[in-house]
Amino acid sequence: MVKLAAKCILAGDATVGKSSLAQLFRSDGAHFQKNYSLTAGVEVLVKTVQIPDTGDSVELFICDSSGKEIFYDVLEKLWEQPDVFCLVFDITSEQSFNSCTKWLERARAQRPYTHLPGVLVGNKSDLDGRRVVERQHAEQWAVQHGMEYMETSAKEMENYDSPFRSLARSFHRLYLEWVDSLHSVI
Ligand code: GDP
Ligand code: MG
Repeated sequence: MVKLAAKCILAGDATVGKSSLAQLFRSDGAHFQKNYSLTAGVEVLVKTVQIPDTGDSVELFICDSSGKEIFYDVLEKLWEQPDVFCLVFDITSEQSFNSCTKWLERARAQRPYTHLPGVLVGNKSDLDGRRVVERQHAEQWAVQHGMEYMETSAKEMENYDSPFRSLARSFHRLYLEWVDSLHSVI
């Protein structure tokens, strides 16, 4: 039974639903706050994820920030040495999807020499009637950048835990690979 800890950075434009998703995940879907206030600075949410079919677990430290340019200095500090990252956009906002390139670059720049597992999340799937970013398009973009794609609705509490569970599994997998590589040299 192994207990790991991973730092997860939450990236994406303001108002895409980053805080809503992270809060829901932490509270096991206990509540969705309609008017969730914009995160003023930063917040770290901690939650332990059990890895299926193993006795292992990953404690995720989810670093949430407002995503406003004004906090870039704070962000720089908060984003140091991430292990995994969750990139969120709003399926009804083209702009939030276009920003993903910038967020991805910023995230990867934090760990230029290591593989940084990431997921791309299209949130607000409940607003499908106002969708401007096609699922297939987002999926292609994600695959192109070595990420998994999933859609969520924090409002409808749909799929909100999938991104974080997937990241925990990826991190656990990397850990197993690392252990294997150690065994191979001794
Ligand atoms: P953040 O700035 O990325 O952290 O976004 P927030 O979590 O603060 O959410 C911004 C706004 O979008 C709030 O008014 C939320 O209630 C709303 N919101 C978040 N997730 C969803 C969702 O899945 N569907 C809908 N319809 N609204 C959402
Ligand atoms: Mg927020």
